[in-house]
Amino acid sequence: MTLDVLAMAAHPDDVEQTCGGTLIRMAETGYRCGVLDLTAGDMGTRGTPEQRIAESEIAGKHMLLHWRGNQLMPDARLENTISARMTLAVRIRELKPRVVILPYWQARHPDHYRCCELGFEACFLAGLKKLDEYSEPHRPFKILYSGLYTNIKPSFVVDISSQFERRMSALLSYTSQYGAGDEGSGLFPQEGEIRERLAAIARFYGNLIGVRYGEPFIVKEAMEISDIVAMPVRSI
Ligand SMILES: [Zn+2]
Repeated sequence: MTLDVLAMAAHPDDVEQTCGGTLIRMAETGYRCGVLDLTAGDMGTRGTPEQRIAESEIAGKHMLLHWRGNQLMPDARLENTISARMTLAVRIRELKPRVVILPYWQARHPDHYRCCELGFEACFLAGLKKLDEYSEPHRPFKILYSGLYTNIKPSFVVDISSQFERRMSALLSYTSQYGAGDEGSGLFPQEGEIRERLAAIARFYGNLIGVRYGEPFIVKEAMEISDIVAMPVRSI
């Protein structure tokens, strides 16, 4: 299996909220996209890990994914251990993505920044020839950090205006989380509320580049521009 883009996330339904529109857009362009969820949300108030995984597979179909996997690591207690890094490094060698999308390195939820740390270190390890004798070395060319859970200025924004509804359908596939159940209903937003919230966030980032809906990303390195006359986004 060779992917063009692999998004790694701590919990099923993270990708649907942070970079799902971009994955859909890349799939529509013809790229092979995949998602690796590190946990199955086993500490969640609602639903079971089996339910979350089944829902994530339905969501993956909405997002036109080529591949989706779940590492079944412990939810809410993700740890950056050698065995976790090695497991992810071998996954990266198998999937050979050119681009990896990780959560931004600062976050309120410890699983989110641990996922970032684990993914970043696994990308490095995956490129070491002698890491594992059963798989070929592969180091992703580009690492993008999804900036949606944080409040910092993105390096760039992807226009997801045409992908927004499909991304919403993907998120609403998690009926155990966003359905009208009783358990923890004070904690969990209903469909109307989640739709309004996601639209407002996507609208905010879209506005930064003069489109309806957008998803923000951060990169550590500078971006190259070869034609300054053709640069998009009107100056303010
Ligand atoms: Zn999460």
